[in-house]
Amino acid sequence: MELAPQLRRIGNDLVAVHLILTDEGITVIDTGLPGHYRDLRRELEAIGRSLSDIRGVVLTHGDSDHTGFAERLRAELGIPVYVGADDAGRAMGEKPPSPPKDRRRLGPVLRFFAYAISKGGVSMPKVAQVESVSDGDVLPLPGDPVIIGMPGHSPGSVAIHVPAVRAVFVGDALTTRSVLTGVEGPQPAPFTDDWSAASRSIERLVGLDVDWVIPGHGAPWVGGVSALVAAYRAAESA
Ligand SMILES: [Zn+2]
Repeated sequence: MELAPQLRRIGNDLVAVHLILTDEGITVIDTGLPGHYRDLRRELEAIGRSLSDIRGVVLTHGDSDHTGFAERLRAELGIPVYVGADDAGRAMGEKPPSPPKDRRRLGPVLRFFAYAISKGGVSMPKVAQVESVSDGDVLPLPGDPVIIGMPGHSPGSVAIHVPAVRAVFVGDALTTRSVLTGVEGPQPAPFTDDWSAASRSIERLVGLDVDWVIPGHGAPWVGGVSALVAAYRAAESA
């Protein structure tokens, strides 16, 4: 679906993938679950583009609900897959540490895992080869994505600022809908390795000139960065 003329979304508020469209080609932000590959093909067909327009994949981090079809694009089409240096191992299949226990409610948890299974999420998709990125990098891809280091959810979590579409993709640095409780609104994301680092990283978003703050899970946020940070801080201390 179209969020803006050059910005499209695949998937839903449980797990989402985004496309940046320019005349130079397409940048894919996160690759969801393996089954989202079919949704990608359908989306490209609907807008008259093809897989060969894709110039690169940028992952917000290396968790398996974000690496879905990255390896398929890399192996079959030679498309480079960029990920924060400290998450390269995770994207390539290293097991993450078990995060601290999160609050959860049975209904939302079942809905999330049922969706993940329906999209092939049990196969734990690894990427065989990645390009490491770091804070401040500007990637040679459509939309000129800028990398912002956001350690916390995982050590190599990054936000991806794409001025061309006035958006920042934050992955699981925060969420606007907890997949574990169903609670909506900006808040710390579940399955986070280091809560205090994640909390500090939120400050990196302050001052960004964007219309969209787009998490990996939950609705895109269009209320501005200041309101987002305030809502996050309120949720954090609740
Ligand atoms: Zn996630």
